[in-house]
Amino acid sequence: MHPLLATDLAQLPALLATARELSLDYLAALPDRSVALATTELVPPVLPEEGAGGEAALRQFWAEYAPQLGASAGPRFLGFVTGGSTPAALAADWLVSAIDQNLSSDGYSVAPAIERAALHLLRQLFGLPDAFAGVFVTGATQSNLVGLAVARQWAAARAGHDVAQQGLFGLPPLPLLSGAAHSSIYKAAAILGLGRAQVRAVGQLPGREAIDPQALEAALRELNGQPAVVVANAGTVNSTDFDDLGALVALQQRYPFWLHVDAAFGGFAAVVPELADRVAGWEQADSITIDAHKWLNVPYDAAMLFTRHQPLQAEVFKNSAAYLGPLGDRPDFVHLGPENSRRFRALPVYLSLLAYGRAGIADIVARNCAQAAALGALLDASSAFRLLAPVRLNVVCFTLTGANTSGRHIREFLERVRDSGETFLTPTVYAGMPGMRAAFSNWRTGLPDVARVMAALHAAVRESAEQVGT
Ligand SMILES: *Cc1c(COP(=O)(O)O)cnc(C)c1O
Repeated sequence: MHPLLATDLAQLPALLATARELSLDYLAALPDRSVALATTELVPPVLPEEGAGGEAALRQFWAEYAPQLGASAGPRFLGFVTGGSTPAALAADWLVSAIDQNLSSDGYSVAPAIERAALHLLRQLFGLPDAFAGVFVTGATQSNLVGLAVARQWAAARAGHDVAQQGLFGLPPLPLLSGAAHSSIYKAAAILGLGRAQVRAVGQLPGREAIDPQALEAALRELNGQPAVVVANAGTVNSTDFDDLGALVALQQRYPFWLHVDAAFGGFAAVVPELADRVAGWEQADSITIDAHKWLNVPYDAAMLFTRHQPLQAEVFKNSAAYLGPLGDRPDFVHLGPENSRRFRALPVYLSLLAYGRAGIADIVARNCAQAAALGALLDASSAFRLLAPVRLNVVCFTLTGANTSGRHIREFLERVRDSGETFLTPTVYAGMPGMRAAFSNWRTGLPDVARVMAALHAAVRESAEQVGT
């Protein structure tokens, strides 16, 4: 063994104690550190011939770069849809690295059984029937990819073609119909050889981001019985709008399409009784994407794909090798997703669900929605801002009032907000209007954070006005 590795092995308790100490300091200060900051290009280090040892390397990294880390896991990071880590999820994630399991198959560790158990807990959390088989993947992008890959397999199978076996060549295009598809759907279409251009925007209900079921029916009718994929949205990123999933499911009686529901964060509506009607009907969908590293507040990276068509999924993802054994009735996860080797990302989910239960998760969701509503009300009451969409869930989509509402102006405004260190929001365009979004999905956020965010937004408005005045 190299002497530095031997020393580190001997000093492992001290090294891990250092990591623990740095982590605890970081987490204690998390609510008050700069939420986000402009980053500078870093000069990549030269690979040393002789290393510094674990403790020195760790301390040097921390001294140099900890001040430049964004508090994306903290309570006022409202960009994208970003969760933090519950205490149980964080502790579990540490263990994941310590125990570093190979999850390839049953037979040498309980870990794959825990993955299945975590999926079982999630089905209960979301009220999904046992007919939905699940698989863990790295994020909702990957989950959408898996769902659409199975959809592709289904569509071609209708014409007696096995895409996984024979490839896509010579097949007619497979239209992907959606009201307001997330960018990751285009990415998945590109990766899968379906093509970004096959993602077709279907009309939305007036003033909404939800798909118009009549427009969808018209689009399906035009396909003359050709199979399609409908990508339903359960929580759009701008206005957190939900397609009427029941109406879409009903259309499956008359038109051949695969119904994939992108419920990356909106799926959590199912956890709160007052919100659960938003996803009514999703138990009839063919595949469902739900992110875990957003609203479940487990560390990156984790999401799930649920499908009622596991045999088709295995056709796509089966990984045949003599030493992996036959597929059987309950295929190992290596046969169900893009990854073969993978992280034991089920453990933080499993432990967080057992630690906090349904009520604990529901409380995070309900409080985040209340915080979004509170910020929405404050913005609505301020002459400096205008809501672009009603606050339906956990996201506030709004813009500045006055003449200066160009995309460039919004970006400059958001840079000011970021440089205050108080909060971080991301720009968007909603119904042709440049604007911004504040997305609440962190378990630590409280109503006092909403007041601080509002104060920071007002301060940035004043600074912008002074800038114009000088
Ligand atoms: C975040 C999000 C995605 C992509 O998720 P990642 O976890 O970043 O890969 C897809 N769809 C929706 C609706 C999302 O909100």
